[in-house]
This record gives sequence, structure tokens and C-alpha cells, in this order.
Amino acid sequence: MENTQQLNQSDQAQLSTFEMALRNFDMAADLLGLDSETRSQIRVPERELTANFAVKMRDGKFRMFTGYRVQHSTARGPAKGGIRYHPDVCLDEVRALASWMTYKCAVVDIPYGGGKGGVICNPKEMNELELENLTRRYATEISYIIGPTRDIPAPDVYTNPQTMAWIMDTYSMAKGEYCPAVVTGKPLSIGGSKGRNEATARGCVEVIAEAAKHLQMDLKGARVAIQGFGNAGAISARLIHDLYDAKVIAVSDTRGAVFNEAGFDPHRAIEHKERTGSVAGLPGTEAIPAETILTLDCEILIPAALENVITPCVANSVNARIVAEAANGPTVPEADSVLDQKGVFVLPDILANAGGVTVSYFEWVQNNSGFYWSEEEVNARLKDVMVTAFEKVLLTSKKYKVSMRRAAWGVALSRVAEALKARGIYP
Ligand code: GLU
Repeated sequence: MENTQQLNQSDQAQLSTFEMALRNFDMAADLLGLDSETRSQIRVPERELTANFAVKMRDGKFRMFTGYRVQHSTARGPAKGGIRYHPDVCLDEVRALASWMTYKCAVVDIPYGGGKGGVICNPKEMNELELENLTRRYATEISYIIGPTRDIPAPDVYTNPQTMAWIMDTYSMAKGEYCPAVVTGKPLSIGGSKGRNEATARGCVEVIAEAAKHLQMDLKGARVAIQGFGNAGAISARLIHDLYDAKVIAVSDTRGAVFNEAGFDPHRAIEHKERTGSVAGLPGTEAIPAETILTLDCEILIPAALENVITPCVANSVNARIVAEAANGPTVPEADSVLDQKGVFVLPDILANAGGVTVSYFEWVQNNSGFYWSEEEVNARLKDVMVTAFEKVLLTSKKYKVSMRRAAWGVALSRVAEALKARGIYP
């Protein structure tokens, strides 16, 4: 891990995460020949809120926290995107994440813009009561700009259905009415959708299966390495193993990485992590240095942790046929060309992890109609959306002879630009 961080710092010395997101934006705008007025309107976020607020801690004392909510675009519909609790959250990162949500929703063609929120905190050091107090205070701060037709939060790194339940309750109490559609990723008991919890991973595995078909690669026995063992990483491991008989050979989390060339049962890794708090020490595996997980010899690499981990230096050593980005922004732009030159087939984040927000959309539709679907129906509709988006991006990549990432950004940006042009400028 330490080595990876050192490489990251030296490789990306000058560019911030949002500036890196803008690189991809500019390439897509060039590809489309987008006029400079439209370009400058979409390039930057519409609205950014910074809130400093006091939270009552377990010792009865108040502590100050800083949180953000950025609405990048509402051209195609309400802003949509998760809330992240992490010590490294900053406005620049939230901006980047918000803009990726705009393009993610556009690439799978669901009627949303993009937004994101974050609070600078370390949830691993906070108890349940402190997390509830923090969430309710933050929800109150952002309640001025969120709402079922304005901006709809969801879980992201270190937030979960319980966090969403507190936000929904805080918002509903202030409004004096039941407002389930203000957040998605809620518990089933208060209007959550079946299939939402595993949706990011399921969508990711669906597009991996499509990519494998395209590359005439057999998923049965294909070796899979996964960086990050949270919601996206752990469930991707389980689904790719259970649905396609692929061989999970390595997984990692913040405390360590484990490896077994013969593969291991991801269910055991999930149980082990639930029991011990980490995948480290999983019986039947050997410990490997965390940074080597990205460069293991394998068929499928799934970065499912944080952004900026695949630097040009790491990309040089990537040994996978497919990189499926379950994380947001794991590959820095310079590393992208390295992967392209090496012939690695990259399933870009805005496509590969769009399953989560797609089922969030289904949840919101169910909340608005008050009619709830079966898990089979949710999964079938999710597959349909993911396969359609994959085909559109693949077709675009062939037509313009560009990478899957450029094609995905091109498809997404053209939809955002079209919506913006149709609406015009008010007043
Ligand atoms: N945080 C997830 C993402 O980055 C889900 C967002 C949502 O469901 O709104 O895509």
C-alpha cells in the first residue's frame, strides 16, 4: 500500500482528481466537436455547498465537521449520487465524483444528472450514535438543496442503508411527510429496492460477461484479482464465482492482500472479513504485498476501492486482459494510454459501476409509484440496461476507433449536451 501511495504521488504530482476528470471530458468534447459555449457550461459543476457543522460526540462534547454536496448537472434530471464518509474527502474529489455521476447516468440513459456528497470523518473511529448524529446534522445542512425531484443521495464509500434511513427520516420529519424518494439505497423495510445492495457488483459482472463474449474469452476458470473488498468488491467476487465459475485468486482491503493461484471460495473470504474485519489471514491463502494486487497475472482485474490507483507506472505492469472499474476513477488519464497500447480491454467506471445507480433509479421509480418489484424483475431490468449500454459503447468505440473509455464518455457527453441544448438557458 505504501509503495502504491508513493507511486501515486510522484505520478500525478500536478493534477487534482477533478482536473483528471476534466481531461476525459475534454477528450470527449473534442471527439464530438462540441462547441465552446456548451463545453464551458457542462465542464464545471452547477452548484457546490460546503457546510461546517457541530456534532455531539459520545462524551457529550461537540466536534466540528465539514461536509460537501456538489450538483454537477441537472440537465437530464435531478442530480443523483452517493455520499462518502472518509478522512480524505475534499471539495475537489467530490466535484470529480459528482461529474462522473452525470456521465454515468447518461451512459446508461437513466433520467438523472449527477451529484455527490462527502463528509470529512473517519467512520472506523466513530460509534453508531456518533454516526447517526453526524448523518442527521449533515442531512439537515444539505436539506436546502436535496429532494426527490432535485437531488437524490445514495450510499458510497463507508455509508450504507442505515445511513440512508437516517437521512430519509431527518428529511421526512422536517417536511412533515413520508419522503422515501429523497434517497436511494434504503433498507427494504422503508422503501428500499430488492437487488439494490448487490447492484453495483451485478452490473459490473454483467458487463464483464459481455466483454468476455466480445473477446471470445471463457469466464469459466478465468483468474480474477480484486482490489477493495467492500460492497462492490466483495459482491463482485461472489457473483463472478457463483454465476460464471470464474476463479477468484486474489483480494485485498485496507489491511492486507491475500492470494492463492488455485483460487478460493469468495464466500469464505466474506465470512472471514465479517468475523475479523479484514481479508488478511484468510486460511488457505498467502499474504502478498497490497500493491501487487493490481499487477498480478490474471484475466480480469477489478479495482473496487478508491480513485487514482492505476498510475502510468502501475499500468505498465498490469497483467490482465480485462480491467473492470468497479471503483470510481481508479485509472489516471496518462495510465489509460498505457493500458490501450498494451491492448488491455478497459471497462470504464462510468459504465462498469453504473449498476448501482441504475437500481437506485428503479428504487426511486418504485417509491414514486408505491408499487414494488420482485428481485427477478429488478435483476432482469438491470441486465437489460447494462447490456444495452455496453453494446452502444462498443459500437461507438468501433465506429470511431477509440477506446471503450473514450466511447463511453462520447456517448454520455452527447446525451448531456443534447439535453442542455433542448432546454436552453433560463430566464
Ligand atoms: N455511489 C454509487 C456510485 O458511485 C451509487 C450512486 C447512486 O446510486 O446514486 O455510483
